[in-house]
Amino acid sequence: MTSVSVLASPSRYVQGKNAIAELGSHLKGLGTTPLLVADDIVWGLVESTLTEGFTTAGLAVTRVGFGRFATPASVDGLVDTIRSGGHDVIVGLGGGSAIDAAKAAGHLAGVRWASVPTAASSDAPTSALSVIYTEDGEFIEYRFFPRNPDLVLIDTQLVAGAPARFLIGGIGDALATWIEARATRRGTGTAMAGGRPTLAGTALAELSWDILWENALPALDAVRAKVVTPALEAVVEANTLLSGLGFESGGLAAAHAIHNGLTAAPQTHGLTHGEKVNIGSVTQLVLEGAPTDEIEAFIVFTTKVGLPNTLTEIGLTTGDLTELRAVAEAATVEGETIHNLPFPVTADQVVDALVAIEGLSRRVRAEHGLPEPVKYVAGH
Ligand SMILES: [Zn+2]
Repeated sequence: MTSVSVLASPSRYVQGKNAIAELGSHLKGLGTTPLLVADDIVWGLVESTLTEGFTTAGLAVTRVGFGRFATPASVDGLVDTIRSGGHDVIVGLGGGSAIDAAKAAGHLAGVRWASVPTAASSDAPTSALSVIYTEDGEFIEYRFFPRNPDLVLIDTQLVAGAPARFLIGGIGDALATWIEARATRRGTGTAMAGGRPTLAGTALAELSWDILWENALPALDAVRAKVVTPALEAVVEANTLLSGLGFESGGLAAAHAIHNGLTAAPQTHGLTHGEKVNIGSVTQLVLEGAPTDEIEAFIVFTTKVGLPNTLTEIGLTTGDLTELRAVAEAATVEGETIHNLPFPVTADQVVDALVAIEGLSRRVRAEHGLPEPVKYVAGH
């Protein structure tokens, strides 16, 4: 095992209501010819405010569209655009995929890169890695870069205007951070930043967890009313900055490995990253033999947040043993983060834990007067 600890972080993190107006002034120090990557929906939300800020900063607005996933082809296409346009900084705007593609392209083209998430839907924006998927959204690989983004900027008014389901997903992703970071610290594994967890990484993961238990439900109320409140600001920071530093420098474990396995099951397509990660979190708690009180509290809380914690809610059943076996095999391949758990893990154990969460979550929900799970049907 390695004996060094690593903390990785973006050079600057900017968060606040209408922060998008200041994107130009923050980018000005990074380059002179930015390339903006945003799909049509995101662009419609940001174009006028962003353009005003760019004009004030003396920067030209050049934007390219984006598809659904950060695929190898989409990354290569952006590299060509950077080179042909002579751009010196690339900015990914929108959900995790546009940001992941921009980071990967910026690295390959040798220019700087910035992340501008328009929802607090995952903790990808701050990290020095991208997740690459197939055209159908199946996990292919993590790509690691020697640098984090030079800038991460998140406008909380945009977060407030985004669908609540995006924030719910970000909460699921961020709750996993502490569950995985503490498991990595207990074991001998390495964090994504390339060394043992730093105390800072582990502490930020725990801080993210504490903030979410306190603020997640009122933050969701705020998003449903499309307003920015202190609770929403706190959850945006927990989902984006704290969870981002916490996972990268604190360590991933079973929850994300199981998420990666789930992406191969067509029944789960269309679910958000954080929704699938939450299934991984409950499954990890079961695998670890976590205290019953803790598992039950997590099921109650995540049900109230609106996250899935049963197979039913991700389109699977306890009888889908072929699919569950495939998920478990993918989650336990050599090199997956599940092996950061402080004990050996086999695919058999993962199948058993996945089957176990169905009855466990149903019982806990019933005991607390919470609704029964609703079957998820993947749309196309
Ligand atoms: Zn994640």
